[in-house]
Amino acid sequence: MNIAELRDKIVNQDRRALARAITLVESARADHRAQAGELLEALKDTGREAIRVGLSGTPGVGKSTFIESFGMMLTAQGLRVAVLAVDPSSTRSGGSILGDKTRMERLSRDPNAFIRPSPSQTHLGGVARRTREAIALCEAAGFDVVLIETVGVGQSETMVAEMADLFLLLLAPAGGDELQGVKRGIMEMADIILVNKADGDLKATATRTCADYSGALRLLRKRARDPEGFPKAMTVSALQEDGLEKAWTEMQALATWRRDTGHWARRRAEQAQHWFIEELRQGLLARLDEGDTRQRITRLSEDVAEGRLTPTRAADEILANLKLGQ
Ligand code: GDP
Repeated sequence: MNIAELRDKIVNQDRRALARAITLVESARADHRAQAGELLEALKDTGREAIRVGLSGTPGVGKSTFIESFGMMLTAQGLRVAVLAVDPSSTRSGGSILGDKTRMERLSRDPNAFIRPSPSQTHLGGVARRTREAIALCEAAGFDVVLIETVGVGQSETMVAEMADLFLLLLAPAGGDELQGVKRGIMEMADIILVNKADGDLKATATRTCADYSGALRLLRKRARDPEGFPKAMTVSALQEDGLEKAWTEMQALATWRRDTGHWARRRAEQAQHWFIEELRQGLLARLDEGDTRQRITRLSEDVAEGRLTPTRAADEILANLKLGQ
């Protein structure tokens, strides 16, 4: 594969080239990893920057409906929108519940939109890297907004929040008791809570739910990266395309404030540092599986079980013999 050519095509907004490049960064093959590294390096200085929007919510809350309506609204304004899915469940079930193109039929036909489903990966570390690199590729390809969708389970939200500029939490209208169902940690990550399905019979409940969450958000510790009034809760109807423009206005207001105050750049820098350390950890862990290290671990593990070695000594022995560097 000619990396220079691929780079130029991506910069020229060639969608097929972008899709090929994402396939490349998803590959675990050593030669593909090397090419992916070269490509990302070559695209580092395009100076293009998208608004990276993380979006989370449990299955059925209306994520794909929202992304479709919201995405169509953005493309109608002339913006280019990429949608990436992070779906850790696909690693277990083999089937993906997110990012399926048929879920967003209208948007997937829109020439200003690019939708990429979640690949099956074996571990969250692999998903994280692939997603970060796919985001970088979409930015280089000139997308204005990159939506990163994740399902509300496990650690995937934290991971997405660590790569997004703004984080949206989509919730369904619910009785007061269910407010407790949203984990505090997830609430703390949200910049905007969108109570979806605020239409028809559900409208009144949605308004009440929104008020409950507004109250709950006010009780959270103030974050330096928030202007007055944020994080906030609002109601939307993805189905009736209601409240979406208002939500976008709020997102832009928040983005502008953060840019003007330096929080935007600072957070991106911190995120880059976070992922550097994370890559380092992953790399070190991978070393434990290389060469004869795994067998040595198994052997020492038996010694530990039989009391011949303390866990600390056994670990020291492995670490002392670990080859670092290439
Ligand atoms: P996802 O699993 O989070 O992607 O949810 P979907 O977008 O597939 O939506 C799940 C169900 O909720 C579908 O039957 C949608 O038609 C419905 N739904 C989504 N958004 C709305 C909305 O704004 N109002 C109403 N009434 N139903 C909605």
